[in-house]
Amino acid sequence: MPVPYSWIMEERLISGILKDGDLELESSLRPQRIDDFIGQEKLKTSLNIFMEAARRRGEPLDHILFFGPPGLGKTSLAHIIAREMKADIRCSSGPVLERPGDLAGLLTNLEEGDVLFIDEIHRLSHIVEEYLYPAMEDFRLDIMIDKGPNARSVRINLPRFTLIGATTRSGLLTSPLRSRFGIAERIGYYVPDELCKIVTRSARILNVDIAAEGASEIARRARGTPRVANRLLKRVRDFAEVKADGKVTREIAHEALRMLEVDEEGFDQMDKRILSTIMREFNGGPVGIGTLSVAIGEEEDTLEEIYEPYLIQKGFLKRTSQGRVLTPLAYEHLGKKPGGSQANFW
Ligand code: ADP
Repeated sequence: MPVPYSWIMEERLISGILKDGDLELESSLRPQRIDDFIGQEKLKTSLNIFMEAARRRGEPLDHILFFGPPGLGKTSLAHIIAREMKADIRCSSGPVLERPGDLAGLLTNLEEGDVLFIDEIHRLSHIVEEYLYPAMEDFRLDIMIDKGPNARSVRINLPRFTLIGATTRSGLLTSPLRSRFGIAERIGYYVPDELCKIVTRSARILNVDIAAEGASEIARRARGTPRVANRLLKRVRDFAEVKADGKVTREIAHEALRMLEVDEEGFDQMDKRILSTIMREFNGGPVGIGTLSVAIGEEEDTLEEIYEPYLIQKGFLKRTSQGRVLTPLAYEHLGKKPGGSQANFW
């Protein structure tokens, strides 16, 4: 029986998902203005145009949907947009808005032009979603009062607001909801150069003495994800303080990351386990996600949302209609040849 890996998610350094320990770090490092937001140049150009146009018309910005893996800056962008539009922002998330009343409470407290940010918007319940449609489209809420023969609907007019939705699983969004966003933008992984700038900026804010090579060593292994880059920086800084004079050089970064078991590609034990399981138990694939999740002892959702996107993006894994398949790159990384003997691996 494979070891359940859910505990690794808690400890997992390189998961893009927000953990309790990140909160303080993130609030100090979160970019405040669009110019502090590194990378995603095309997206920033479009957003600047949309914001300028809305400002000129004196109207609130269209509703915006951001989709992409966790830790890439969706929440940061929502805050930045609110600040640039000189608007207040209210934040909530799909699973928190359980009942229509929760949504109504939020919406009726908004002021003209405010931003409402809903994280994990794909997890809104069906009924809450239905209430959201007229709120997005016509800025009104139709609330049912009473039940049975006395039931009647009361209309509440809402101020014109901007909804910013974020999702890691755009495929799970219903099409009526998706179609109500005027702007839908994908946020992709960052290239090492951009991550290097992010690490350097974070090091400056945290007062960490870091060499350019130290920053690029961290950037290379950060899975294309700013949140991971910041988390690695924090751990490498601890290592540098205890094992050296506090300066993050290339050697110190390399040594610290080796100790943290983050390899050259940014993969940790779980990534290697996924690749080696497909190779060893399924002869390189194709294997369905359900079968793979049982073999690994990890939930399907977690595999699809957290692990797979990066493995696919790096070209180690392919998603085909028959299932997941390893690529020659993966075999090379595992030190094996496709179709070769896979016995006693790992
Ligand atoms: P998401 O909402 O997509 O999960 P966040 O916006 O919470 O991601 O980003 C996580 C952290 O990563 C932020 O607190 C910030 O420090 C950092 N970050 C994300 N994107 C950028 C960026 N483009 N430039 C600088 N820092 C970033």
